[in-house]
Amino acid sequence: MSVLVLMRDAGDELSLQALAFARSLGQATGADAEPTAFTIDGPYAPASWGQTVADLVTARSPRAVIAPGTERGNEVMAHAAAILDEPLSANTTAFTPGDPPTVTRVRWGGSLLEQALLRGGTLLITVAPHAVGAAPAGVTPEVVPASHHALALAPTERVGASSGGVTLEEASVVVSGGRGVGSAEGFAVVEELAGLLGGAVGCSRAVTSAGWRPHTDQVGQTGTKVAPEIYIACGISGATQHMAGCKGAKKLLAINSDGEASIFAHADYGVIGDVHAVLPAISAEIRKVRGA
Ligand SMILES: Cc1cc2nc3c(=O)[nH]c(=O)nc-3n(C[C@H](O)[C@H](O)[C@H](O)COP(=O)(O)OP(=O)(O)OC[C@H]3O[C@@H](n4cnc5c(N)ncnc54)[C@H](O)[C@@H]3O)c2cc1C
Repeated sequence: MSVLVLMRDAGDELSLQALAFARSLGQATGADAEPTAFTIDGPYAPASWGQTVADLVTARSPRAVIAPGTERGNEVMAHAAAILDEPLSANTTAFTPGDPPTVTRVRWGGSLLEQALLRGGTLLITVAPHAVGAAPAGVTPEVVPASHHALALAPTERVGASSGGVTLEEASVVVSGGRGVGSAEGFAVVEELAGLLGGAVGCSRAVTSAGWRPHTDQVGQTGTKVAPEIYIACGISGATQHMAGCKGAKKLLAINSDGEASIFAHADYGVIGDVHAVLPAISAEIRKVRGA
């Protein structure tokens, strides 16, 4: 039996992680060696895309359908699961074959890993971002036209995120500001450093609550989970709910004026100081080193 993988596009990092997950699931369950990757072509509408996945399942009877555990991946797969009357394991980190198989999935904003039995004719699974390494790029996904059966909800307008092209989820550098940045205008120093490093801007909930940045920039339990090479936390105290979003970072640099701030307990590198003095100094040094 086959395994299908819903991809955003051929080079998308989180889709390649879903592909790697699908390959190991395929090997573990004795399904066809190579999963069939596909993308959906058509305007995004969750019910329509969910119907497309459900139609594919009905037509091909795969053992499993795997998708990235992004907001969109989870939404589409939830619709497909409802149409097919199958269970969905969302934000899955591991799969153990068995009858029924066991899945491990992330719950409560990353503070809990739960094991569950997945009893389904077709296993519907989304993969938690960065739970597994990405498969090498090089697949050509099959393009499946979106079903037009169910356009109950279709977005009419999309307002772009403010991170300058690099998405928070996939950025290799994230410069994140907290209440200590002081104001919306104060984020200029955060944006400057992120721009120099080709990174994305993140923030804490204190910042989104104050209306200084949009919710799309929020890192944490109720925001985006990031896994950059380095996370630079500026004026962020280190609350558990914030750390739930950045614990996947390989290195953490904390800049905080309070040497007792709990963020320093999680940090690989720390600077005790005012963000409005430290960040411009780092940016100036980077420009100097680059000769710009
Ligand atoms: C259910 C629930 C879900 C939540 N989800 C999230 C979430 O997804 N993400 C999230 O971030 N939070 C979340 N929170 C909120 C979280 O508990 C904290 O309140 C929040 O993270 C605090 O943000 P902060 O660190 O920016 O602010 P604060 O805790 O106020 O910390 C500000 C820090 O800035 C430092 N500082 C002040 N001035 C300067 C300066 N000039 N230079 C340098 N440092 C300075 C201070 O020393 C302090 O450490 C959630 C809370 C709940 C209850």
